[in-house]
Amino acid sequence: MSSIKTIGIIGGGQLGKMLAMSAQQMGFRVATLDPSADAPARSVSHTFIQEPFSDKDALIELCEQSDVITYEFENIDGEILNHLTAHYHIPQGAETVLTLQNRTAEKAAIKNSGATVVPYESVQSNKDIESFASTHDYPVIVKTDSGGYDGKGQYFIDSEEALQSVNIPFDDADFIVEKYIDLKAEVSLTVGRNTKGQTVFFPLQENLHIDQILYRTTVPSRFNYQEQASIEAEKIMEALHFVGVFTIEFFIDQNDNLYVNEIAPRPHNSAHHSIESCNYSQFDIHIRAVLGKKLPEIELRTPALMMNLLGKDLTNIGENLYNQDNWHVHVYGKTENKPERKMGHVTVLTQDISRSLHELRPFFKSAT
Ligand code: ADP
Ligand code: MG
Repeated sequence: MSSIKTIGIIGGGQLGKMLAMSAQQMGFRVATLDPSADAPARSVSHTFIQEPFSDKDALIELCEQSDVITYEFENIDGEILNHLTAHYHIPQGAETVLTLQNRTAEKAAIKNSGATVVPYESVQSNKDIESFASTHDYPVIVKTDSGGYDGKGQYFIDSEEALQSVNIPFDDADFIVEKYIDLKAEVSLTVGRNTKGQTVFFPLQENLHIDQILYRTTVPSRFNYQEQASIEAEKIMEALHFVGVFTIEFFIDQNDNLYVNEIAPRPHNSAHHSIESCNYSQFDIHIRAVLGKKLPEIELRTPALMMNLLGKDLTNIGENLYNQDNWHVHVYGKTENKPERKMGHVTVLTQDISRSLHELRPFFKSAT
């Protein structure tokens, strides 16, 4: 038996819950820290510490209780994370996540690795945006440098007039502007890398976002960029240190160019299908990777379709949720249902994705 008995997880959202479930299946104890009393991972953790991520003493307590620590929450304070990584066993380390916390640093690191990113610039004023648009043309999208997710803190601007009417809070935060791409598709590549550097790739995922929130994922992607995406991932791995699973989000434009959008150094919504569709889930691979275990080659056993269940979808689907023959239902257990909140997801294994999409559409009409 391994000497590691307790896995500590910083962050008890749905990612923490599914990580905890994998870890428990493998026989480990799980300790989780999250500020929220109804954190989804709480119900599947042996120990739960309900404290804010900014509470250094509480994080130290989690580390003291654990033999290895992992995190699903990306925005841990740099000073605290550096302290923890210096004193405890945190294979993911601090450096990569701290780089990725900041969009400018993230984009610079990706670009410096030789991978392709959409043209972007740091901006401090509307004038800077105008000057960017004079080179790259509208539309553009302005994003906060830190703390944004699911499209929060983003401003779509399609003309100079539109720019005049949005009020970007330049005094409160740092921003970048980037060219808004006329997307043919979005795809993502989930990669597992263990502490010894062994790397495995999940099948390329095709993602549709609505209102900047992931609406659905299909595998395999209809767009055959697995190899090109893997080459981009290799460049990024040369430049940035990764342990665990991470996901690279890509844009494909109308001219079939592939761009790296962003990187999540943790399990990712677009790879949830792997729980049923692959020989190992992204959560199993993450646990094995942080423990330094051998990683099995990933096989897609069957094509799959994953739909997120937002609060409004759950309300719409109601009693039908558990009545469908082929739905693998995951409900995270958040007590408060908000229309745009990710409450769960459904995975359907199917040989005919377009037919399954057709069958599912009426249940998710609230999202379109
Ligand atoms: P978040 O951190 O909120 O996930 P992203 O940068 O990934 O932020 O943006 C969320 C979604 O918004 C993307 O998946 C995509 O659908 C859309 N989007 C963001 N930036 C662009 C862009 N430059 N061009 C086209 N669509 C974009
Ligand atoms: Mg994103």
